[in-house]
Amino acid sequence: MKRKIAVIAAMLAILVGLVLVFGRGAIAERAFQAALDKNVGIDQSAKLGDGLHVYVCGSGSPMPDADRAGPCLAVLAGGQAFIFDSGSGSIRKLGRMGFPMGKLQALFLTHLHSDHIDGLGEALLQGWIAGGRSAQLPVYGPEGTDKVVAGFNAAYATDSTYRVAHHGEKIANPAGFGGLARIIKLNDPLTDQDGIVYSGGGVTIRVFEVDHNPIKPAFGYRIDYKGRSVTISGDTNYSANLVAAAKGSDVLFHEALNKQMIAAIGAKLAERGQANNAQIMTDIQNYHASPEDAARAAKAAGVGTLVLYHLVPAPPAKAIEPLFLGDAPKVFSGTLKVSQDGMIVSLPSGGSQVKFSEAW
Ligand SMILES: [Zn+2]
Ligand SMILES: [Zn+2]
Repeated sequence: MKRKIAVIAAMLAILVGLVLVFGRGAIAERAFQAALDKNVGIDQSAKLGDGLHVYVCGSGSPMPDADRAGPCLAVLAGGQAFIFDSGSGSIRKLGRMGFPMGKLQALFLTHLHSDHIDGLGEALLQGWIAGGRSAQLPVYGPEGTDKVVAGFNAAYATDSTYRVAHHGEKIANPAGFGGLARIIKLNDPLTDQDGIVYSGGGVTIRVFEVDHNPIKPAFGYRIDYKGRSVTISGDTNYSANLVAAAKGSDVLFHEALNKQMIAAIGAKLAERGQANNAQIMTDIQNYHASPEDAARAAKAAGVGTLVLYHLVPAPPAKAIEPLFLGDAPKVFSGTLKVSQDGMIVSLPSGGSQVKFSEAW
């Protein structure tokens, strides 16, 4: 204890000394300069090396959360970038994570529930300006994606004129503003028999249908690059289609909703006279997977790593995670992670490792 006090006293003395020598303003100025040198204009993704990298830009759900944005996973592979769903706040998380927006090739929607699309306007704007786009961003998704994209394009149309007028067409090329809907119909020429919706530069992206009934269709995606692979569930119950699609993947990103915890929230809402909200807590249990369901899917697919995202309710602290996970760790014996915003999951090419890092 005495030692601790002595260390704190020494640190305070140093701090007082620095303030006396340089002045408070000078210290702030130095800190600002250091942050500038370290962060601004530097491609933070360069250090990741060749491989398949998944950025957790939104590990949350529609529930309000100070730390978690709405559902969003972004992939960087072979110099190409892709975004899968763009929940509220997720695109700012990508900016904070140093995601290379200039390499963005396309955005994929799993389905059109609001929590998966409410950051789309920001994605299109950032993709346009920060990415210096000269063509609209392709937005793949189920039927209805055309209406969603047209709506966001219309909502941001006035803003786009401000950008063009203010920054000039070299920076804000009008041809690159907004999204271009690419509707995925399963068994359509857009998707070949293997469900391939994107293929280029060594990256293959496949689509498959999941079970988010009554939301039809709802999609999951599988991304392959240089022998490494990740599968993204989107919103789904336990899905045999997902299990089949994920076979041979290294990592499965699966949504998870703890039904007991949601039922308890519902019961408390009912007790406090909030019948409508209580009913919603009952309804949402039947079209999401529990952590145990996700673990069963990971086990059946034979993946080595399961990362849970779209967490409902999201554990506010590590100490709550065991309650949220329930029996999932007993069901799945591989690496099981509860994701958080800022997490980067890296699969280096030419290896079998799965590395986890934090952007902050
Ligand atoms: Zn949904
Ligand atoms: Zn959702």
